[in-house]
This record gives sequence, structure tokens and C-alpha cells, in this order.
Amino acid sequence: MFKGIILDLDGTVYLGGHEIEGAGDFVRGCHRHGIATLFVTNRSNRTPAVVAAQLQSYGIECGARDIWTSSQATAHYLEAGTAYTIGEPALDEALQDEGFTISDQAPDYVIVGFDRAFTYAKLKRACNLIHKGARFIATNPDHGLPLHDSIAPGTGAIVAAVATGCQVPPLYIGKPESRIMTMGAERLGLAAADILAVGDNLTTDIPAGHAAGMTTALILTGYSTRADLAAAPVQPDWVVESFAELKEIVGT
Ligand SMILES: [Mg+2]
Repeated sequence: MFKGIILDLDGTVYLGGHEIEGAGDFVRGCHRHGIATLFVTNRSNRTPAVVAAQLQSYGIECGARDIWTSSQATAHYLEAGTAYTIGEPALDEALQDEGFTISDQAPDYVIVGFDRAFTYAKLKRACNLIHKGARFIATNPDHGLPLHDSIAPGTGAIVAAVATGCQVPPLYIGKPESRIMTMGAERLGLAAADILAVGDNLTTDIPAGHAAGMTTALILTGYSTRADLAAAPVQPDWVVESFAELKEIVGT
């Protein structure tokens, strides 16, 4: 039996402001069986406390400590220093929690996350600071989110603007890189081999979990469909339709 389960959030635990059916029940079942859970998300613009409050509103057992965002992972991964950020307040908060100082004066890093107030002025500042030697870091490469009748461009779109402007590739921390997952395992205090990574996205969750050495399960409640499997870069160990099915496989 697994000792820990890492769950993605958007499209896995909730979708469009609603709990995915059975998510809370699944988490309770895990805890009853002594299996630890951690929610790992590429979203960089919400604090762990805000995410935990949302999950609690669905009746899901968790606290801020059980949330691991790409902002936290970025702050934890890098050696603390000075950083110019393109992002929302949750990114700066995560960095300051790890001892960073936010500065646009010759910073050690330029760190790019999700920013709904992104401007040409920020782009120009970021490109120039990188050009002068700041290390270019991206919280995640997400293209965007398909919404009801539109799309919301994601962090990756902003990262691409900066990368094009300064002709330097970023270091990515979030999924599909393994870094965010490996740090998640450390946070759980478990070996990757004892962890099941569950997510709805074949291009991010599954490669990240696999690269970190975890067993992976694709849950068909969000982004990816069964038809996407043929072209997937990494095949998941399991494919499930629902949390009810996952519960059976995990044995909770
Ligand atoms: Mg997802």
C-alpha cells in the first residue's frame, strides 16, 4: 500500500469552483488508512491558506501545510537572495517566507509566475535584468486554462514573452518538471517509491510524477481524455474515471 498520495488540484480535486465527486471521501479514506496526502499545484497566485480554505469549504480534510504550490516550491528550491517578480502577491509572499527580498535593483533572480496585471513595462524590466545577469526562473510552463467558452492564457504565455525578449531560457520549477514533486515527497517525509501521484493532465501531472520516481494515476475528471493517451509523452501507471475507481485500486 502507498504511504502517501500527491493530488493535483484543478481538474482533479475541483473544477469550476466545485468539488470533483468523491474527492473529499477519497482523502478521508486515505487518512483512515494512515496514508498521508499532499495537494500539489502549478498555480502560483494563491496562498496555501486560501487554497486550504477552499478545500475545507468542500469538506476536504486539509490545512495550509497540506498545500504545495509552484510559488512555494520555487522559493524553497532556490538559494534565498533578491528577486524581481512578475506575479501576484502570493508569489512574493512565498519568496519572503523563505528569506527572499523583492527588489528590481540588480536582483539575483527574475522569477515569473501567473500575473493578471502583466504589462509591457514588467516585460521590459524583466528582460533587462536577465540581460544584466539575473537568473531567469519560471514557476511553471502552463499554457492556460480552458474555461467554459474561452481560454485563460497561463504562466507559460508570460514566460514565453520574457524568454523571447531576452533570448534566455528559464529554469522551470513546476510540473512537468520533477522538482516540485520531489520537494513534495520531502514535505511528506516519504520516499518517491511510496507515493502515488494523481492528476488530470497527461502533459504535466503524469510526467512530473513519473520523473520523480512515483507511481502515477490519470484521473479522467478534467483536462486529459482517454483519447489523449496515444500521444502522451509518458503513460500513466493507471487510468481511472473517478475517485470511486481510484479508491478501489488504492485499497482504501
Ligand atoms: Mg489539473
